[in-house]
Amino acid sequence: MLLPGFAFAQSAVRCPNPSKRQGSVNHIFFSFKDKSANLGSYLPKNLALVEEQYLKNGPRCLTKQTYNAFLSMNDALKKDNNQSLLISSAWRSPKTQMYFAKNRSEFAASPGRSEHQLGTTVDLDFLGSKEEDLFGDSVAYKWMQENAHKYGFVQSFDAEGEKLTGIPNEPWHWRFVGETIATKVKTEKLNLNQYLFDRKEAKKKGVKL
Ligand SMILES: [Zn+2]
Repeated sequence: MLLPGFAFAQSAVRCPNPSKRQGSVNHIFFSFKDKSANLGSYLPKNLALVEEQYLKNGPRCLTKQTYNAFLSMNDALKKDNNQSLLISSAWRSPKTQMYFAKNRSEFAASPGRSEHQLGTTVDLDFLGSKEEDLFGDSVAYKWMQENAHKYGFVQSFDAEGEKLTGIPNEPWHWRFVGETIATKVKTEKLNLNQYLFDRKEAKKKGVKL
């Protein structure tokens, strides 16, 4: 199934390009912690189409930087555990997010409020998984908990953060923020969106966090 937001070039699917009016946000460090934080019609630059071997269900786009980090991480996982990740969701347009929020899931954020709109966020599964398999129980997930930060990925919502965000544990949902911040968030057990918010506020005051 093709979700809204994908453009067609004859039979091939391609990722969209932003127009000037679609604005620019700091898509790596954007924080959703503040209830008023909203991406509006933001569309990331440099979206790349994910190769078919990594797709779980239909075409997906990620920023090139995120996709390259994903590929490095997946190579390392393969080497360590002979497992491979699949991407079941990645970049979403506000229109797609609206569709999810209405039809799909109680977890889905409202349009403009999803990390998926940044093009830096993936929902993951593992190759060979069956319907009843949970990603959170997989060897791939356990490996990611130990190693994903080295490739710049953070699990945005975990059981610990639920008290703070109200968003339940989502083992499958990982956001790329670069190795430095991912490592800090993991080692200091921080909540990602809270940390990105605090970092932005500290920057305004000229303090380095
Ligand atoms: Zn997700």
